Amino acid sequence: MNSSTAFQTELAAPAVNIANKRSLLLRLIRAEQPITRTDIAQRLGIDKSTVTENVKPLIDAGVLREDTLDAKGQGRRPRVISFADRGEYFIGVNLGVRRSQVGITTLKGDIEDEEDFETPKESSIALRTARRYIDQIMRRNTGRTLRSIGVSVPGMTDTDRRSLLYAPNLNWQSIDIAKALGLEGIRVVVENDSTAAAMYEARMKIRDSDEGLMTNFILVRSGTGIGVGLVIGSEVYRGSGLTRGIAGEFGHMTIVAGGKQCVCGNRGCWEKYASAAAAASLYVGDRRLRPGETIPRFVEIVAKAENGDNRSRRTLEMIGDYLGIGIANVIMGIGIPRVIISGRLVYGWKFIEDPLREAISRSIVGKAEGWSVEAGSPAGAAIGGALEVAVEDHLAVL
Ligand SMILES: [Zn+2]
Repeated sequence: MNSSTAFQTELAAPAVNIANKRSLLLRLIRAEQPITRTDIAQRLGIDKSTVTENVKPLIDAGVLREDTLDAKGQGRRPRVISFADRGEYFIGVNLGVRRSQVGITTLKGDIEDEEDFETPKESSIALRTARRYIDQIMRRNTGRTLRSIGVSVPGMTDTDRRSLLYAPNLNWQSIDIAKALGLEGIRVVVENDSTAAAMYEARMKIRDSDEGLMTNFILVRSGTGIGVGLVIGSEVYRGSGLTRGIAGEFGHMTIVAGGKQCVCGNRGCWEKYASAAAAASLYVGDRRLRPGETIPRFVEIVAKAENGDNRSRRTLEMIGDYLGIGIANVIMGIGIPRVIISGRLVYGWKFIEDPLREAISRSIVGKAEGWSVEAGSPAGAAIGGALEVAVEDHLAVL
């Protein structure tokens, strides 16, 4: 087998079947607005007339607007498309294991307002707290229209994306979140937090590059636990049939036989070794704490490593090694060689990146050409992902 060609991938932009990809066209406009029809056609690999066919009804309906750019000189002034400001907004709720956020955005993409609170242990109290912030936001925005609410959760969701099935690190089970937040006539969409972060990064990738839009990547979200989000052909993959909403639960794959006890009941799970939260126990190791010594949190370990503390640096390197071992397994299983790291862990990226790459290099995929690992944006793992869920859901029904 010629392993160097095994993972030669996409990069050139294949033409997009626009009938199934209007959501992609809208995502492109949202990421790049204002954008010309010619640029849309080029980026999607479709005819300009097809672009017009798709955007015209939305311009007529007042969803999109077309303006003439103020350009200097005598030349023809380009006409550009963007979302119209119709006074609509979206709310995102990120329910994290330690902290939660509630925020608001518009189709222009700015995050306008954000509340942050410690996540109550009891799910009913957590949801009541979130609801209280939602009510406050709605009171501050009377006169505008709330279109939808996106909720990101650290666990598996049901097929209708209304309920959280199981969040191991919160020990929450079967919670109808849409009902608990219930607001008459407003859609509430519940999404796994890694999938939400992947949706956020998919739009960021559009903005950051000129490459084709048919992006494939694996997002590894490492914070209190580890979750994996999959983007295949620019769309998130949630599994199919009975396992819809469960795809990507790699945090609980065993990477150390008979290893550390995990909240899921098994031993040696990946997230016990490669999550940001695992840093504390890796830092302490087998030794006893000295009198008065407290276990540092992840960001403190990063700060200590920055100041030249060897134990902290070594801890982050161990995390990088374990993370790389798991990522190589995930790449081998899924067959997508592009990986984006998300979550709190990216704060320690400087120390984690090299050992992570080294660990991947030892695997079969690491010996092939064309794999890549990069750090994503911390916002995607927090409120950015939840807001993305709300907006994408609305664009899908436009
Ligand atoms: Zn586990």
